Amino acid sequence: MMGDGPNSAAKWSKYSIEDGSLVRKSEFCPRCGPGVFLAEHSDRKSCGRCGFTASDHSDSN
Ligand SMILES: [Zn+2]
Repeated sequence: MMGDGPNSAAKWSKYSIEDGSLVRKSEFCPRCGPGVFLAEHSDRKSCGRCGFTASDHSDSN
């Protein structure tokens, strides 16, 4: 192991902690289920498999 200091947290930037569990910020498609990620766009997310689209209201100003 090398450099396991405070800066090591940076490599987890694509993840977040929710309810004590490590989760990806990318969301799974609610239709296709776990294993199929939603493609992230500037203001929405979409599934390239089934075409599901979700507006990302939670991060709007
Ligand atoms: Zn889907």
